[in-house]
Amino acid sequence: MAQIHLGDGTWILSDCGQMPSEKNCKLIMVAPVDQREDLLDAAVAHAVKHHAHEETPELRGEVSKMLVDLE
Ligand SMILES: [Zn+2]
Repeated sequence: MAQIHLGDGTWILSDCGQMPSEKNCKLIMVAPVDQREDLLDAAVAHAVKHHAHEETPELRGEVSKMLVDLE
């Protein structure tokens, strides 16, 4: 199994498995902290496309709360 070595600095992780969902989705996305907006965009797009959420500021807020800092 391949291993991922993240570079130095803080990374943030979006774990779809943490989202309440009827699908057993385990999508994980990781980005450097200075690309938080990119990760948020990707996570929101995923939620809209694959989980039939509506793209609203509320959804963006919910997804934003799910992002976890990795040390
Ligand atoms: Zn998902």
